[in-house]
Amino acid sequence: MTSYARLPITFERGEGVWLWDDKGNKYLDAVAGVAVNSLGHCHPKLVAAIREQAGKLIHTSNLYNIALQEKLAARLCELSGMDNVFFCNSGAEANETAIKLARKYGNERGVTNPSIVVTEKSFHGRTLAALSATGSRKAQAGFEPLVQGFVRVPHNDIEAVEAVGRNDPSIVAVLVETVQGESGVNIARSEYLQRLRKLCDEKQWLLMLDEVQTGIGRTGKWFGHQHAGIVPDVMPLAKGLGGGVPIGACLARGAAAKLFKPGSHGSTFGGTPLICAASLAVLQAMQDEGVIENAVRMGDYIRTRVREAIGTHSSVVEIRGQGLMIGIELDRPCGEIVKQGLAKGILINVAGDTTIRLVPPLNINKIEVDYLLGVLLPLIQDFIAQPKAA
Ligand SMILES: *Cc1c(COP(=O)(O)O)cnc(C)c1O
Repeated sequence: MTSYARLPITFERGEGVWLWDDKGNKYLDAVAGVAVNSLGHCHPKLVAAIREQAGKLIHTSNLYNIALQEKLAARLCELSGMDNVFFCNSGAEANETAIKLARKYGNERGVTNPSIVVTEKSFHGRTLAALSATGSRKAQAGFEPLVQGFVRVPHNDIEAVEAVGRNDPSIVAVLVETVQGESGVNIARSEYLQRLRKLCDEKQWLLMLDEVQTGIGRTGKWFGHQHAGIVPDVMPLAKGLGGGVPIGACLARGAAAKLFKPGSHGSTFGGTPLICAASLAVLQAMQDEGVIENAVRMGDYIRTRVREAIGTHSSVVEIRGQGLMIGIELDRPCGEIVKQGLAKGILINVAGDTTIRLVPPLNINKIEVDYLLGVLLPLIQDFIAQPKAA
């Protein structure tokens, strides 16, 4: 179907941060499958794990125990301090799971029509409930009627959430991203997240943090909320968790972890041996190779160099980010830069119309960063040297 406006390029092969197209041209990939290829392309340990497991057992269904799924769940809980995991196949499904958990939580507590606080400019996926939770009219338009039960407030505005809490007894949960990715790398302040945690505790609401993009090392910690020193009750994950294979997971803690009973929820493909073997290999390689520490160093280095080069230019609104989730916001729509980058051998992305988003593999090294910036910074400089369209 014509659901994508694709760029006119076809890739044939990848290795680390590099991709080759079908004409043999080489590109540095700072999109990484939209924050998915956390170890770059075809990391040898990920490839080996997939090959080995594919020859042993690929799929059996959730009618039976799956040892690798249990192992992956245990590892994710160990890293996050959560209690239980539900496995699915995408970020949208992980958010659907969170939304169903919140509804079940509310209904079991006798709340009529339980609803969830969500934010403006958020992105939670394309399935109907996830789309209804998403703060983008553009994404929603034409798909009405939307799913009911969401109350929208501005991002980073604790007073707005408190006000909803005072006036609306149907609220049972808050769903936010620790860094809004799709709308342009908008970081939730630590103080905001800490106050949300406190408010949720007082009100007995579930704090649900959509870490589909921020989770698994992207922000320079295993999970984005760890920058604020808090723990959520529910956490959807996906993107980087499989390093390129499709996997989603919804982690939960405390009361939220025990809501589903046999038959409450399910997924045919969720947590198959093949996908769990791949994800376990990703987590192991990240730990063994100091990938998160690298993301911190390279993220700081990129932001410093971008600030030095263009930070004082009047057309640069803000240079921001956490770890290797980086936004360079300009004073105008900048989708053109993506095409210019492609012509010069770098893959970059624009989120929220005016923000250049860099989400390269988390194991990108300094030489590769220098290559990327060596192409990107002159492109931005030329772009903002032109007069802004009226
Ligand atoms: C990408 C994304 C999703 C949707 O994930 P899919 O795998 O495309 O369904 C949900 N939430 C956030 C924060 C995302 O970045």
